[in-house]
Amino acid sequence: MSFASLGLIDPLLRNLQDLNYPTPTPVQAKAIPAVLEGKDVMAAAQTGTGKTAGFALPLLQRLVQNGPAVSSNRARVLVLVPTRELAEQVLQSFVEYGKGLDLRLLAAYGGVSINPQMMKLRKGVDVLVATPGRLLDLNRQNAVQFDQVQTLVLDEADRMLDLGFARELNAVFAALPTKRQTLLFSATFSDEIRTMAAGILRSPVNISVSPPNATASKIKQWVVTVDKRNKPELFLHLVAENKWDHALVFVKTRNGVDYLAVMLEKAGYAVDTIHGDKPQPARLRALERFKTGDVQMLVATDVAARGLDIDDLPLVINVDLPIVAQDYVHRIGRTGRAGASGVAVSLVCADEAPQLAAIEALIRQTLRREEEPGFEAEHRVPETSATGEIIKKPKKPKKPKAPQGAGAGVAQTQGKKPAPQGGEGKRKPAAAGKGAGPSKSNPFSLEMPRAKPVGKPASKPTGKSARPAAGAHKPAGKPAGGRGKR
Ligand code: AMP
Repeated sequence: MSFASLGLIDPLLRNLQDLNYPTPTPVQAKAIPAVLEGKDVMAAAQTGTGKTAGFALPLLQRLVQNGPAVSSNRARVLVLVPTRELAEQVLQSFVEYGKGLDLRLLAAYGGVSINPQMMKLRKGVDVLVATPGRLLDLNRQNAVQFDQVQTLVLDEADRMLDLGFARELNAVFAALPTKRQTLLFSATFSDEIRTMAAGILRSPVNISVSPPNATASKIKQWVVTVDKRNKPELFLHLVAENKWDHALVFVKTRNGVDYLAVMLEKAGYAVDTIHGDKPQPARLRALERFKTGDVQMLVATDVAARGLDIDDLPLVINVDLPIVAQDYVHRIGRTGRAGASGVAVSLVCADEAPQLAAIEALIRQTLRREEEPGFEAEHRVPETSATGEIIKKPKKPKKPKAPQGAGAGVAQTQGKKPAPQGGEGKRKPAAAGKGAGPSKSNPFSLEMPRAKPVGKPASKPTGKSARPAAGAHKPAGKPAGGRGKR
């Protein structure tokens, strides 16, 4: 199958050639003809499937072929997206695919001044990519009216609902012309999404390029169980041990982001961060530097989880699991894209067991558990079935075995990973390390696991940690905490 056989016009085909897209992806092969015919579409497609071109290419073609020109303060195609980053990326896709078409394109999102966006809307735009809140602001200020909207695209609809945009979306739907084309793209389909879809789509063409709620099968995923307080040190240890030098790292809180970033910097990595409190230009800059490789480790909260267009990212590390299971699918959607294989590693502590169960139920697979010698969890993470049901109660932690070669001391493991060189015999059990106990400077130790320890209480600190990476990379002036500090 070729792009030409889908009925795309020459200027678009030339741009695709320039971009080196040889053939349509499955979602493109299905979506492009449907959108060209003016049909509504409901597509289950996650990031990395080529969904953006799936709607952008045919919509650009319809804009060129179907006048009339847009009037002032109007838009002909409206693309709603959950985040500023995605707004920029979708706009960029329209710009690249539509090179030479002489169309007016704009991205509008919050967190930056509204005035330049209002100025650009004066002449009207053919494509307006917007986040829901800013779009309504612009509409309230009469900078954009909806009466000429021919097509509405909801990109990453599930994420927009997760972020609490339901009210804004309903307000936009109510203000749009009823006679219009509507395209809905979502990685996952909850009942809420289906209800919304039923209300806004008319006899849609249904497209599903991967089973709903499935994660890309090419991604190798596993879980490393660990006590919460030891997460930072285990993280740094894994990074050093495996020579991971280009990874997107997810952490729950902004403090956690900053803490890991400092640790990584001390260890000599080029690091940048993305979180909600960071000004938009700085976030975009961080992303750009990560894409070009100037930044090796990008540490982010879930703000960055959706829609980041990073090609060939080999590795996603979840230092914390997301609260919402669907965010796991979106987080790891950054890797294993467009046919590339990727790796997603999650560090999971006992109080994240419910989140892990929810994730496993959503993706319908049980993730392989591993334990890193020297970081064995004292508070065990229960094993779950693929339906999320707990099938094994927490076990009393075993004492780490004496070194017996590869895999020794690895509990709850299906498919053991060879022990890293250096030998686990050199290391001490995690609970005995300096990191034990809560500490203000280590956000990972602020909250102790809710699960009751089933083994004996943590042993006293030994005073020296044998873990190679941990001690070496502790940020100066920010001790990982100790019992004396409680
Ligand atoms: P998306 O799922 O829209 O975020 O696209 C994922 C990535 O795939 C983007 O980096 C696109 O540039 C790339 N891509 C989209 N369509 C194709 C194609 N037909 N062939 C090769 N790469 C593509």
